[in-house]
Amino acid sequence: RKYNFYAGPSTLPVEVLEELKEEIADYHGEGLSMIETSHRSPMYDRVHEETIELFHELMGIPVNYKVLFIGGGATLQFGMVPMNLLKPGTVGEYVKSGSWAGKAISDARTIGQVRILWDGKDSGYTALPDPVSLKPGNDAAYLHLTSNETIGGVQWKAFPKTGDIPLVADMSSDILSRTFDVRDFGLIYAGAQKNIGPAGVTVVIIRDDLAAASPENLPAYLRYKIHAEKNSLYNTPPVFAIYAINKVLRWLKARGGVAGIEKLNTQKAEAIYSVIDGNPGFYSSPVEKSVRSRMNVVFRLPSEELEKEFITRAKDKGMLGLKGHRDVGGCRASLYNALPLEGARALADLMKDFAAEKG
Ligand code: PLP
Repeated sequence: RKYNFYAGPSTLPVEVLEELKEEIADYHGEGLSMIETSHRSPMYDRVHEETIELFHELMGIPVNYKVLFIGGGATLQFGMVPMNLLKPGTVGEYVKSGSWAGKAISDARTIGQVRILWDGKDSGYTALPDPVSLKPGNDAAYLHLTSNETIGGVQWKAFPKTGDIPLVADMSSDILSRTFDVRDFGLIYAGAQKNIGPAGVTVVIIRDDLAAASPENLPAYLRYKIHAEKNSLYNTPPVFAIYAINKVLRWLKARGGVAGIEKLNTQKAEAIYSVIDGNPGFYSSPVEKSVRSRMNVVFRLPSEELEKEFITRAKDKGMLGLKGHRDVGGCRASLYNALPLEGARALADLMKDFAAEKG
């Protein structure tokens, strides 16, 4: 198999792909596939329940939070968060840390009042605020942040403490990659397709009191309360994605859980950043050192021609997806949970050789 450095959709662990291949047509001798069975059958129900339990266990999610599986991608959450939490007379507060935060803000503006508490524009979205400096207003319904900007490559290392104001986070590109205290948050959402499993499901972790407060005048699917009351079975859930997620979570648990993968993720990121820092005339990282992402390493070479040549060389060596996002250019190595340490080391070696040859 090739090494997958694409920013998404997903890298799945090879062990999970092998298991899926094995079971796809006949789930454990049941005579039918998990994809074909009713989402209300005992066969699926076991997987559904276990997947929720595994999230609680792996992330330390307290019992007063629900884990929900919703369609529509993280993008739907850009709208669902303000639809459910932004009440008349309150303001949705946002940290504008880059492209994804920007999209969340644009959608919130279509629903109600928005305040930008901090904007990274002056740095070209290569920095983040000191979490301690962020003070939500008394009229704030919530404070929203993007824990990892997948395009810009900035990642929060600590989160603000917002007291009674719920902290809401888009964790699409770094959920399950590192430990943190879920109790600091009122709501967390993440499109599955980077660290959790295949595209098609968004995981929402929501405190019970916030789910209960969904306005009655929204269509059912858009209300967290309905998803919470129906245990994500109000309508047909994305069963295949949830089934695959179950396997990814088991895989993660067997590897020491989130703390175990965090160690590996740190080593993977260090392997790449040390080559960038060790070759200052050749590689550069636009991101302020203290907030460099461990999931999406963004870097530049001395010219666009060399970047192109490097990306082609990497591809020839079985390393895919290193082109930076079209909005920012350059190179980007996404080091999601399923990328093995050897993959990051292979890329680091190639970067060293390339710099020695061309520098
Ligand atoms: N938020 C972040 C941080 C992302 O990286 C992405 C997609 O890459 C999204 C939101 C949008 O997710 P989706 O495509 O699931 O709607």
